[in-house]
Parts: sequence; structure tokens; C-alpha cells
Amino acid sequence: MKNILVIGGGFAGVWSAASAVRTARENGIPESELQVTLVSSGDDLVMRPRLYEADPEKMRVPLDRILGPVGVRRIAATVTHIDTAARSVTATGRDGRTDIISYDRLVLATGSQLVQPKLPGAQRMFNVDTLSAAAAFEYHLQRLPEAEPRQGRFTAVVVGAGFTGVEVATEIGGRLKAVADAWGCTDPVRVVLVERADVVGPELGPGPRPHIESALESLGVEQRLGRTVESLTEHEVRLSDGEVIPAATVVWTAGMTASPLTAFIPGERDRLGRLHVDEFLRVVGTSDVYAAGDTAAAMAEEGHTVTQSCQHAMPLGRFAGHNVVADLLGLKQVPFAPEPYGTGLDLGPTGALITMGWDREVQMTGQAAKETKVLINTQLIYPPVDDADALLAQADYAAKPVGEVV
Ligand SMILES: Cc1cc2nc3c(=O)[nH]c(=O)nc-3n(C[C@H](O)[C@H](O)[C@H](O)COP(=O)(O)OP(=O)(O)OC[C@H]3O[C@@H](n4cnc5c(N)ncnc54)[C@H](O)[C@@H]3O)c2cc1C
Repeated sequence: MKNILVIGGGFAGVWSAASAVRTARENGIPESELQVTLVSSGDDLVMRPRLYEADPEKMRVPLDRILGPVGVRRIAATVTHIDTAARSVTATGRDGRTDIISYDRLVLATGSQLVQPKLPGAQRMFNVDTLSAAAAFEYHLQRLPEAEPRQGRFTAVVVGAGFTGVEVATEIGGRLKAVADAWGCTDPVRVVLVERADVVGPELGPGPRPHIESALESLGVEQRLGRTVESLTEHEVRLSDGEVIPAATVVWTAGMTASPLTAFIPGERDRLGRLHVDEFLRVVGTSDVYAAGDTAAAMAEEGHTVTQSCQHAMPLGRFAGHNVVADLLGLKQVPFAPEPYGTGLDLGPTGALITMGWDREVQMTGQAAKETKVLINTQLIYPPVDDADALLAQADYAAKPVGEVV
């Protein structure tokens, strides 16, 4: 019996496991000969791209309803160590029990995490990186009306004007207003976006920038560019130029790094901590370890490395799942080849922005783009549940799923 172990129940992990089952079945390999196991800390696929929205607790899909029907064995545990020489991982379950799990091929799909700032008061910052963090943020917002009325009660400072920061900044005003209105609070709602660079969306490029700037302006989002947060207390934020902003809410969005489990895999990493992989997604310098999703620095197209995004995590999973099985069975592996690159940026009540290509040429704006973004966020990134056939059909690395532009 051969064992494929996938670590991580995110977009890359789910599609790796489903794709591995698909390739095994296509080649007539029964479960008694090849077992696919997925180990993940949580019980759900968390829809991370939606965590800036209200009601984040709903942004999840039970893993057993996705992968149970195709016979993937699931272990709910946190992996703390990987021993590539022994081909095993150490995992601790919620009951505190630690187990060693062996594998013949490993897919590391443990995603990425926000880099936490080290500054006075940083523990008071909120973020929307994980379901629990987004839920804590939502809880804080809902309780603002109960706080003592004072300047800044309904002011949010958003730190970082990258992809996530812009989505939070354009959405948070509406969420604050809804909470204030529900309690009859008449305090002003204020949103301030702080960015170290001199422009918003520094990594999004000049194409989308005018649209982002105009959305921020029409929503009344104040910008503090070329500055950063130096410290914060319960009631105010101090910026690097000395300005003090009374604010009960600070959201940190700046900086992502690959899962710390990448440190157990020998091999080179890029500046985001992602493992270098070959065209088949095998970690360079290893024989049995593959990486997919935000842990993998795969080449998307000539000269471009994949982004830490669902758009790339899903196909990376499909290709990795196929390739581990092909590797074990001596079948033909397929080089990673994603769909053309595109992005969809939510701009709150003003609409959204859809771009195509690595220069992010704007294709669609306003409410038309918003409809596409909503379709992506509420349907296209959701895998089928309770339906083995639909899941395996979508798990095909060669399929061209419509709308994987997120
Ligand atoms: C607010 C926000 C907005 C975003 N918006 C977009 C967007 O619009 N478009 C887009 O394409 N992307 C977006 N992204 C990025 C996207 O969510 C990620 O790139 C994507 O989730 C990566 O998928 P993944 O499977 O690699 O990792 P993840 O989805 O992070 O999944 C990682 C999995 O590994 C598990 N895990 C981690 N460590 C361990 C461990 N030690 N042991 C066991 N299990 C472990 C986790 O529980 C999780 O199941 C956004 C992200 C955020 C936070």
C-alpha cells in the first residue's frame, strides 16, 4: 500500500487530494493499493479571499463534505515537524495526542500567513488572515456601540494599501456604519488607509491605480502615504510622522510569508519563504516532496512566478495531485501550466476591478466587475460538496475551470 499525504486543507490541499484520487482511479488503482490522506488543523476549507467581508464565520466548507465522498482519509491535526529522510511527519491532534504519519509522497500545502508587526500595541491590531482572526474582528466591530462614546469610536485605521488592505478599506466603512446605525449611534464613521509606499496598491501597478484612488476618494477613505504606524493604544494610533489618530479599530494587512513548515524541507526559498519547485511541482533537491499553493514558488509563465492567490493555489493543487500519483506509479508527469493571469479586486460599494495579464490591464470596472467578483467569491471558488463525480470532474488538471480569476 502506497501513501500520499497532503498537509493543508486549503485550496491547494483540497485540489491536490481530489486530483490524486482522480488520477489513481483513472489508472484503475484501488484504495487498498493507494491511500490519499489529508491532514489539516481545521475541519473546513476556509474561504480566505472572503474574510474581509461581514459574517466571516460563514466563509467555510466542511472538508468531509468535499473529500469524504471520494474516499480521502482526513486527519484533524496540526503538523509540527517533517522528517524528509524518514518520510514522516509529526502531528498533534486536538486531544493533545501526537502521532507519526508516514508517507511515500508528500504534498506540502499549508499556505501562508500574515507577518505580524513588532511595534508597541501590536497585540491590539486586528487582521483578516484566518477565520478566527476575522471572527474576532467582527466581534470587536459588533461591540463598538457598547464602548464608551469618545472620539474615534467608529474610526478604523487600515495598515497596508496592497490587495487586502484596499479591500478592507473600501468595505469597512459600510460595516462600521451598519453597526452604528443598528444601535442608533450618530458618531462619525472614518476610515484611514496608511501605506509605507508613496502610492496605493504599490504592487498592483499603474493600470489599476486610478480606479483604486477614485474608489477610495468617493468613499471618503483618507490616505496617509509614505507613512507607517509606530504605535497604538486602545484609543489612538501614532503614525511615523507624529500624527495621532483617535481610532478604536486598527487592521493590519501588510506582508505575507509562506507556512513555517517550509523550514523542514531542504531546498531554496524565495523572498516570500516559498519553496523552489520544478515544473512538476516537486521541491528542487528532494525526491518525494511536492509543494502547492502559497508554499510553492512555481513558474507560472516565462519570467513570472505564481502569486500567493487562489487563482494559482487551485491549479497548483490539481497538477501536484496528478504528479505525485504519476510519480508513484511511473506514469507521465505534466508540467504546471495555469490559465492566463488575472485579478479581481473588490472596491466595496463602488464596485470592483478585473484585470488581465501580468501588467494588470484593466478589463472591467464598476458594477459589472462587481458582479464578476461576487460570482467568483460566492460560487466559482467553492468546490462541489457531497458529489464525488462533480469533484473528480473539476479535479482534472487539464480542465479549464471558468472564472479562476480571483
Ligand atoms: C483577506 C484575504 C483576501 C484574499 N483575496 C484573494 C483574492 O481576491 N484572490 C485570490 O486569488 N487570493 C486571495 N487571497 C489569497 C488566498 O486566500 C490564498 O492565496 C489561498 O488561500 C492560498 O491557498 P493555500 O491552499 O495555499 O493556503 P490556505 O488557503 O491558507 O490553506 C492552508 C491550509 O493549511 C492548513 N495548515 C496550515 N498549517 C498547518 C499545520 N501546521 N498543520 C496542519 N495544517 C496546517 C490550514 O489550516 C489550511 O487548511 C486572499 C487572502 C486573504 C487573507
